[in-house]
Amino acid sequence: YTKKKFNVIRGNYNSIQKEDIQHFRKILDSKRVVTDSVDLEKYNTDWFFQVRGTSNILLKPKTTQEVSSILHYCNENKLAVCPQGGNTSALGGSVPVFDEVIVSTELMNKIISLDEDSGVVTCEAGCILENIDKYLEPKGFIVPLDIGAKGTCHIGGNVSTNAGGMRLIKFGNMHGNVLGIEAVTANGEILDCLSNLKKDNTGYHLKHLFIGSEGTLGFVTKVILQCPPRPKYRNAAFLGLQNFDKVLKTFKLLKGHLAEILSAVEVIDTPTMEFIRKENKQDSPIGDYPFYLMIETSGSNEQHDEEKLHLFLEEALKTGLILNGTVASEPAKIQAIWSIRENIANGFRAYGSRMLQYDTSLPFKDYYNILEPIKESTEGLSERVFGFGHLGDGNLHLQIILKNEATDELKSRVDAVVFEKVAAFNGSISAEHGIGFLKAKYMDKIKPKNTLNLMRNVKKLLDPNGILNPYKVIV
Ligand code: FAD
Repeated sequence: YTKKKFNVIRGNYNSIQKEDIQHFRKILDSKRVVTDSVDLEKYNTDWFFQVRGTSNILLKPKTTQEVSSILHYCNENKLAVCPQGGNTSALGGSVPVFDEVIVSTELMNKIISLDEDSGVVTCEAGCILENIDKYLEPKGFIVPLDIGAKGTCHIGGNVSTNAGGMRLIKFGNMHGNVLGIEAVTANGEILDCLSNLKKDNTGYHLKHLFIGSEGTLGFVTKVILQCPPRPKYRNAAFLGLQNFDKVLKTFKLLKGHLAEILSAVEVIDTPTMEFIRKENKQDSPIGDYPFYLMIETSGSNEQHDEEKLHLFLEEALKTGLILNGTVASEPAKIQAIWSIRENIANGFRAYGSRMLQYDTSLPFKDYYNILEPIKESTEGLSERVFGFGHLGDGNLHLQIILKNEATDELKSRVDAVVFEKVAAFNGSISAEHGIGFLKAKYMDKIKPKNTLNLMRNVKKLLDPNGILNPYKVIV
């Protein structure tokens, strides 16, 4: 096996031996112990082709007990483990860096129960997000999370990354929506934090340790989610605006007018729209403008919702905040608008290592101001800089296409520029994607020493041998 990759040295873990494989075949049936290198390829490679591991084993448990037996064995034998859900992580967190044992939730995909009075759903960690939503739809509920990867990502992965997405503005993040969790710690111990109560202040809220810790503290096996009633009526609007100042003023007006029915506010800049046109063969439905806003309302009274939306549009047009717009109320037309936004990541993916992506959180007033200094400072290196994202949450996705293939050195140079500017604007270098592997090396710079020490102590307590997702989050 390789000892050093991506400037990281392989930890002092054992590598898989024949006896280990035989042992795993006793825990799982042999079909669920994958060792074929061709079959392993996609599990070793992350969605954006940024990190490629060299694991020679993938395990597919079906039950919590099996996860427990696997982790117990790995811990006793000092084998490193990489938990994997749908493998859509944006930061290489879901794939091994070296030869870690991949443990996938692929076959832990049962929805266990739904309380039809409260909308509390209990499911196994490997349920695909969209499948949970399809299950809930006829029962009148909705999953409170909507991300472009919904057809592939697993709820366990969503919890482990504290995924955000388009509806966060209305429903909040996973910390608020997850009522309970079952997780297995590194030594195989099963932790039952499966409360299904909205209020439960009995001691430390341990479930939160597993939300957003990206598989470094435990393996999530079950999730209990509070799902809101499914809104009966949705509207989407696609608006064209003159400049970013007007984008911000429109956002303020939107919140005032639409209040509780506002369920998404996304922004797209001109370079991104040109990219969408060229690479995804989709187009703005209203012609060309410097900025575009995509908004969604979700409510329970058609007339009331439409009235509110039209009052907002009337005022925004009259005051010159928006220059043009189109509104959709039919599901197919709404989806056509959303697909423009949802497909962006696919287009960028095609650029492989020439594309660098940054998921930043910024104060609203500086949300777009950060682009110009980044363009200037990366001149000569970058071909184009793009800005789009979940404006409603202050979350800007900044993509940079480089002139040349990215070497580690080049990536580090551009990272340094972006992170310096984000810090200067009092922002965060990860709004919703986490730290994963690619940002772990920056934690020393972005976190105060004592908070980082506390994180390391929590990690040591739950995973003394450091077998769970090494090289990720904190190193
Ligand atoms: P994986 O990618 O498999 O894993 C992610 C991390 O969680 C890894 O560190 C992994 O080790 C760990 N993990 C996975 N399962 C478990 C488990 N059961 N127990 C413990 N640890 C586990 N993210 C957003 O927040 N908002 C978006 O809008 C968004 N849009 C996206 C659009 C596209 C097209 C793509 C490709 C990605 C997008 N993402 C977005 C990123 C990604 O989809 C999310 O981070 C998602 O939550 C990952 O889920 P997953 O099942 O694919 O997890």
